[in-house]
Amino acid sequence: MDAELFDKVYDSIVKKESTYDGIYYTGVKTTRIVCRPSCRAKTPKKENITLYPSVEAAIRDGFRPCKRCKPETPGALGPDGLLAAQTDAVIDACYGERITLQQIAQKLAISPYHLQRTYKRVTGLTPMERLHQTRLSAAKRLLESGRLTMSEVAAAVGFRSASHFAVWFRRLTRVTPSAYREGHRGNRQALAGWTRNWRDMR
Ligand SMILES: [Zn+2]
Repeated sequence: MDAELFDKVYDSIVKKESTYDGIYYTGVKTTRIVCRPSCRAKTPKKENITLYPSVEAAIRDGFRPCKRCKPETPGALGPDGLLAAQTDAVIDACYGERITLQQIAQKLAISPYHLQRTYKRVTGLTPMERLHQTRLSAAKRLLESGRLTMSEVAAAVGFRSASHFAVWFRRLTRVTPSAYREGHRGNRQALAGWTRNWRDMR
């Protein structure tokens, strides 16, 4: 697992948030107990944790299910919903890198074909469409904050050059990144009508 994704899951464990419940399971090496990330029990130290993609995998490794958070009881998500949620978690952690459908599938240990089909059925979007959406929201946030140079914004959302980033941004929003930033400073209204066509982005 990526260090970045691990940190995000660990953060949810510390805050006892349910963001990753049903997606990852927390094996606590010191107690040999496996929990949901949101478990109310004492927060385990980072170095004592192994994250598992399923409670079964943790049990196979010798962990016992926690009596408090009962990780073995099924969550609200079915297996397909689970896969979609895991995909979202990977995208949220990796959108700043140059990442392909194949690489996302690899991280989830499934075939790109299965990922594409299942994700689309559950969410109505392909994983790459979701990736573009995530990048676009992040890019807009960064442009609005106005603290980074254009190259820095481009790099933060997975583009090697500011010019590639500008072409992509314009295709999705009909405005250039600079115009977006300027518009945000002055007249927000000019930007209200931006449109997008995700079908172009496959
Ligand atoms: Zn627990």
